[in-house]
Amino acid sequence: MDAAGTVVPDAVLAVKQGRIAWIGPSSEANGRFTATRTIDASGHFLLPGLVDTHFHTGQQLLRGKLAQLARQRQLKIPIWRNYLIPFESALSEEDVHLSALVGYGNLLSVGTTCFAEAGGPFPEQMGRAAREIGIRGIIARSTMDDADGLPEGATLTTAEAIEENLRLVKDWGVPSEDNRVGAWLALRQLIVSSPELWDTFADASKETGARIHIHLAEGTYEVDYAAEHWGKRPVEHLEATGFLGPGVHAAHSVLLTDDELRMYQSNRVSVAHCPMGNFLIGPPKIPQMLRLGIDVGLGTDGASTGSLDLFQAIRASWVALQSNFSTPWHARGEVSLEALFAASTIGGARALGLGEWTGSLEGGKRADVIVVESRTWDLQPVTDVTFTVARSLTGRDVDTVVVDGKVALHHRELVFVDEERLRARVAERLPVIMSRFETLIGAA
Ligand SMILES: [Zn+2]
Repeated sequence: MDAAGTVVPDAVLAVKQGRIAWIGPSSEANGRFTATRTIDASGHFLLPGLVDTHFHTGQQLLRGKLAQLARQRQLKIPIWRNYLIPFESALSEEDVHLSALVGYGNLLSVGTTCFAEAGGPFPEQMGRAAREIGIRGIIARSTMDDADGLPEGATLTTAEAIEENLRLVKDWGVPSEDNRVGAWLALRQLIVSSPELWDTFADASKETGARIHIHLAEGTYEVDYAAEHWGKRPVEHLEATGFLGPGVHAAHSVLLTDDELRMYQSNRVSVAHCPMGNFLIGPPKIPQMLRLGIDVGLGTDGASTGSLDLFQAIRASWVALQSNFSTPWHARGEVSLEALFAASTIGGARALGLGEWTGSLEGGKRADVIVVESRTWDLQPVTDVTFTVARSLTGRDVDTVVVDGKVALHHRELVFVDEERLRARVAERLPVIMSRFETLIGAA
């Protein structure tokens, strides 16, 4: 994933003080280094860790629950407002810590070494868990100060929202080469936060260097809301108010006109493309975005959508992009699987502003490396490594994960947390959380 797309057969990668010290063919490595620890990766691929550019820590334990509810009754739309926010509201501080350990453990287990939290409750607990488990990440607080009908505790006053977000960024610092777990500002949605909050965050972002993670162009209700309130489309409105800029990271970004795409381009807004949910809203204009040079990363949108395996998301996106943007004109796809793999590594790192020090395996970068089994029959024969990686690998082929030079997953076992104890904690807390959630949504 360097600029030249280099593939090194029979490679050696040396790590020193958390950085990639050297990478090259093993024939040239002899005598260069004395290692205190060596990982034998023969029969494996070494790849840059994947980057999840839109994750919901607080929704990890919700996995499968909405499908179960939908079988019993018609779900209320929009899902995020009627179920996702109430679920997050049902979590205690310790529940968020538990959810974070499970979520980040899940991410590591499928080869993801870096996540960007969309904003949820108790972000300090996310940060605590991320530090413990060894993943790289960006934490954020869910911010809603202008919404009716949400559970108590979900919304903040404008002053509280500003205070809590700024304090988080001050306490944790922005993500940097030397700061594995940093913080950003976050605004949940245009329709649940006040204009004052948007303006204040735009200024705070410029002052602190913390980016702003938002959900944008995600639903028809949002387009209607903007038309009703400002006589504009959502992105046109944000452009007019001066909000857009390189500090804005916009998840989903599906319902965009070509004019709005150009506003993304000129303001250098980055995008989190979440294939498993986005195509249910509409065809996200990924081919145009890439052509315009917009930074696009891949995201899972959290475990409520199912698997956190970005290798699967790459393939889902590719098939859907092909069928939406190319097949109708009997044309070949202009977005390749390889380009989508790039979007899940170096592209994602760039979209989060971390591309200078992670996202690829290059000397001097932080050592965020995954070791992936290559000998399974579903991958053999490996004639072209790029083909195999982009088309056939799954997260469950990942054997070992190194983040910031430290082994965080070894032979598919988490290194820094006791998985048995974690399973026991989930078994104990899940029924309590679910019963609170069912009460909140009136399903108890
Ligand atoms: Zn989201």
